[in-house]
Amino acid sequence: MVARLKLPSALGDALLDEARGAGAVEICGLIAAGEAHAPVRYPIANRAARAADRFDMDAADQIAAFKAIREAGQTLVAIYHSHPRGEAEPSIHDRRGHSYPEALALIVAPAAVRAARIRAWAMQASAPVEVTIDWVDAL
Ligand SMILES: [Zn+2]
Repeated sequence: MVARLKLPSALGDALLDEARGAGAVEICGLIAAGEAHAPVRYPIANRAARAADRFDMDAADQIAAFKAIREAGQTLVAIYHSHPRGEAEPSIHDRRGHSYPEALALIVAPAAVRAARIRAWAMQASAPVEVTIDWVDAL
């Protein structure tokens, strides 16, 4: 598992814009990167019935995103979602529902006040472990 995650500041800004634009509904998607590419996001529709505090990625969007990632020679880095209210810390549902253990959980919380608005977590079985994000101008 990576100890630190390097992401472009522009990606962070785009994630915050996407989260704010969704209002009270959680956003979700994939972040992938390749040797020749800076990390990019693949937004996916949230199909959860309780989309204010859950996310359930649209199956067709998810298949299309994984295909695009493969075709671009990228690998999955993180699964992102937002917390419209509160902090960028994994909820109990996030801990139970993280489907890709090799990918980090990136949580976008535009309203966070106690800590950073975007945080990354390695979702280990025992407890999530925070991974430091290094925001850079370009990769
Ligand atoms: Zn969550």
